Amino acid sequence: MNPCILVQPVEASADVAVADRLQVVDAAAPQVSVLDLGVTRGDGIFEVFGVINGHVQAVVPHLRRLAVSAAMLDLPELDLEAIREAVVRVAGMAEQVPEFSVKVVVTRGVEGAGAATCWVIAFRSSDDFAAERITGVRAVLLDRGYPHDIASRAPWLLAGAKTLSYAVNKAALREAARRGADDAIFTSSDGYVLEGPSANLVARFGNRILTPAPAQGILRGTAQGAAFEYFAEAGYAVGEVLLRVEQLAEADALWLTSSGRMLVPVRELDGRPVPVDRELTDAANAALLARTE
Ligand code: PLP
Repeated sequence: MNPCILVQPVEASADVAVADRLQVVDAAAPQVSVLDLGVTRGDGIFEVFGVINGHVQAVVPHLRRLAVSAAMLDLPELDLEAIREAVVRVAGMAEQVPEFSVKVVVTRGVEGAGAATCWVIAFRSSDDFAAERITGVRAVLLDRGYPHDIASRAPWLLAGAKTLSYAVNKAALREAARRGADDAIFTSSDGYVLEGPSANLVARFGNRILTPAPAQGILRGTAQGAAFEYFAEAGYAVGEVLLRVEQLAEADALWLTSSGRMLVPVRELDGRPVPVDRELTDAANAALLARTE
């Protein structure tokens, strides 16, 4: 069973206690209107928190990113305290397996009603992340079709917001599968490496570990951020950069990072083998999995 809480995500009145704005509901029963703009237009945002050994990870970075996404979509200012409370409660109500996730969804609400809809739900991924961290994945480069400065040129495209509209991301994964790969890495139309459909790209070149700069319409990754803290402490120089597609051929290791997966090595790119740094992968994953917050 997936514990689920409906949240009033916008503070209506200081008199209403946070607890009174959370309602535990049955996730198996209908809870969202067919008129909800999240359903009819994909007009909303979400976050997925990893819960490892009972600890909800990167709570603050996820909530901060939710607020950024809300602002990019001109959604009302969210009460992050209420949402945080719901996340922690749902995580506590779930069956305590070693790894699961908690998702927060905020939509623009029922058309015309003017009130955002929000729910928080725990779930277990159908993917075996533990296995992927060992075996790695085969990835292909796919053109996203926009130049790397699209976020500043055309902010209405919402590049870099975590919106509900993941149909394109899912289509990219199906295209990757058609090409015999497990995952995709988007590139810009002018030749820069961006991110995966549900992960950031991290590349090691000697003692430098780099990720494409978020200003290129890339989601600022919480797992990438935690991985960079680990790498910096381990003595690597870390940085957010513009990375040309050609540079990937020089990498000593590539990873896809996300909250559920942690660091998954890319072992093949467009059919060509990529070196896997087993020792560093295992050490970084151990550090990320050991986080208590
Ligand atoms: N980029 C995209 C497009 C994503 O959807 C995600 C996560 O789902 C990420 C990057 C990685 O973000 P995080 O590490 O916070 O999970």
